[in-house]
Amino acid sequence: MKLVLATKNAHKLKEMSALFAREGLSLLGMHDVPDMPDVEENGTTLEENAIKKAQEIQAHTGLWTLADDTGLEVDVLDGAPGVYSARFAGEPVNYEANNRKLLGLLADASSRKARFRTVIALAGPDGSMRTVEGRVDGIITDTPRGTSGFGYDPVFIPEGFDKTFAEMTEEEKNTCSHRARALENARVAWAELLG
Ligand code: IMP
Repeated sequence: MKLVLATKNAHKLKEMSALFAREGLSLLGMHDVPDMPDVEENGTTLEENAIKKAQEIQAHTGLWTLADDTGLEVDVLDGAPGVYSARFAGEPVNYEANNRKLLGLLADASSRKARFRTVIALAGPDGSMRTVEGRVDGIITDTPRGTSGFGYDPVFIPEGFDKTFAEMTEEEKNTCSHRARALENARVAWAELLG
């Protein structure tokens, strides 16, 4: 059974392959399928973007397709940057500028509570669509800390830890991350969908 992962990110493909290997699936990335359409992520929610990506790639390949979208939601910013996390400080995408902007906005904040949320959409050849999510609560630091990972990792401390994602090894981050939790939920949903 083949499953297409709607991403051009080799890191995500590797992470997913490990999780799905036990289901006896072979995972295809965007580069394994010719003429993969470029899907514009112009939705106003993570769910909308994940569903749109999964639907369009599914229609192109005819195969089961899985697509994800992630955002960092900060309580005192009413859930921003959220679906706009990648381009929070404008184009082109710049992780450092995003973190600077975020820390600036939170300079006098009464709360630093935030969460990462990943939504995964699974689209089937029979027209079926299912979404699952994974989240991790935490707080935003005063200054960036650590050098591993990417994006907002240097400014996010997950609940139950005293270090940022960027101060963790990849394995450690994967024990509690939003993406790992969403993937586990997707694996279960997939098994249910196949009966
Ligand atoms: P995407 O939907 O996975 O492409 O994520 C959108 C944006 O959210 C990225 O450009 C990053 O800024 C941020 N992001 C997603 N996942 C993570 C993570 O695991 N750590 C830190 N930032 C992340």
